[in-house]
Amino acid sequence: MNKKLLNGLYLQIAGALLLLMLAIGFAYVVITAHSAEMYFQEKCQRMNAPIAQHIVDNVFVEDAAPFKADGTVNEATIKEMASHIMAINPTLEVYLLSTEGTILSHVLPDKRVILNMVNLAPIQAFVKQKGQTCIFGQDPTDPHRDKVFSAAAFREHGEVTAYMYVVFADEKYGSWAQMLFGSYMFRIGVRTMAIALLAAFVLTLILIWFITKNLGIIIETVKQFEQGDLTARIDLQSKGELSVLADNFNHMADTILASIEAMKMTEKLRRELIANVSHDLRTPLAVIHGYMETLIMKDGTLSLEERKNYIEIVLKSTEKLKKLVSELFDLSRLEAKQIQPQKEAFFVHELIQDTYQKYAILAKEKRISFKTHIPQQLPLVLADISMIERVLQNLLDNAIKFTPEGGEVAIQLQEKNGAVEVQISDTGVGISTEEAEYIFDRYRSQSTTPYNNGGTGLGLAIVKKILELHDATIQLQSQVKKGSTFSFELPVTKIAS
Ligand code: ADP
Repeated sequence: MNKKLLNGLYLQIAGALLLLMLAIGFAYVVITAHSAEMYFQEKCQRMNAPIAQHIVDNVFVEDAAPFKADGTVNEATIKEMASHIMAINPTLEVYLLSTEGTILSHVLPDKRVILNMVNLAPIQAFVKQKGQTCIFGQDPTDPHRDKVFSAAAFREHGEVTAYMYVVFADEKYGSWAQMLFGSYMFRIGVRTMAIALLAAFVLTLILIWFITKNLGIIIETVKQFEQGDLTARIDLQSKGELSVLADNFNHMADTILASIEAMKMTEKLRRELIANVSHDLRTPLAVIHGYMETLIMKDGTLSLEERKNYIEIVLKSTEKLKKLVSELFDLSRLEAKQIQPQKEAFFVHELIQDTYQKYAILAKEKRISFKTHIPQQLPLVLADISMIERVLQNLLDNAIKFTPEGGEVAIQLQEKNGAVEVQISDTGVGISTEEAEYIFDRYRSQSTTPYNNGGTGLGLAIVKKILELHDATIQLQSQVKKGSTFSFELPVTKIAS
């Protein structure tokens, strides 16, 4: 197991998760604190919204107006009113503002007023909406932090001449957020949140451990495969997304292995082909060379009969060479698909009867009983006549060649599953199971049997290729010393016969 890699991955994911959880926790606290503060501020403003209007309506009456007859501020009235209000609620700061926002008067013995004037826009908005929405305004004692407030317009003869501005300062009690952090409910909430986050963190860690464990197995197996162990396969105990990945990898590995095996096999066959072709070419060439040399060297001493005999041997060897080269050429063209079957509808039994005539003499010479079994009324088949004739010739050549004198060779036809089956059987030497695996590959045959004279080892490879071009396969049933049966099927043509 690649522990280092796995641990690194696990720690990275766990670290990222921890950071995420901390961020969620932090965001929770900040958002809760902010919304709670907003809520309290709004509530405070709603509750105290009528204060300023109350002062204007009920305190500034008749001789207690904020301005004296000469237009100066009536400080005595303001101070009295302010001290009453601050006695009831010491967090309130009371200001009298001009219509431009300049602070005309205030009563704040314990505080330093920093601003000379305040922004009127929020105050006018508050007056207009009668304190229905939460609005923040400037606090002249603390310009950096806007506060909720109450405000009202003071009118003389229908004209606004001043504003009452009451700021809800909260320094004595700390900010609303500070209050919130001290609250029991908030502490409970944070604790619950922390426990939930912790549980989620631990559960996710366990889950990640399972996933990275399987990932580790996958990584390790892929590495083994990459390092050359082509048998390495992923074995996951649990099912899930990763097991699909594992299955896919295993299939891919199987395919790669099969392809490599196939390539090795092709390469082996290619080497064998070159070796066998050169061997098979060398033998007749050596024979031709040897006899021609003898003919030249012993020209005067050879009898006519000897001379004829030598020339016949040379001729046979050239024929063998010719056959070998021409079959090699045909096979390579078939393999390269340079020859395509010219399919046409024909009666295969007619072709068989023609071929039978040609081989009957050969069979008779070898005192082999040669028969055909052809049922009545066979349908037309669709195939390339000359190619199928070549198949029949190759199979019959072999059947007669590998059957000893007194043996039997037969051709049998029968209709089967929408096709006509052709069987060529003999009572010859038979083919061992081992050999049967290779005889359809080119140049596999070895001249080990006494019957295999003049064979090129390409006949069955050509048969197989031709049938492949007809989407058919050649079947073989054989028993050593008892005989062999080769069979193949030709598709029945759809055209009515
Ligand atoms: P060859 O030209 O050597 O006969 P083939 O491809 O036709 O090449 O056959 C390959 C080999 O298969 C033969 O050499 C022989 O060993 C074996 N074989 C083919 N047909 C028969 C058969 N009817 N009986 C026994 N052996 C056969």
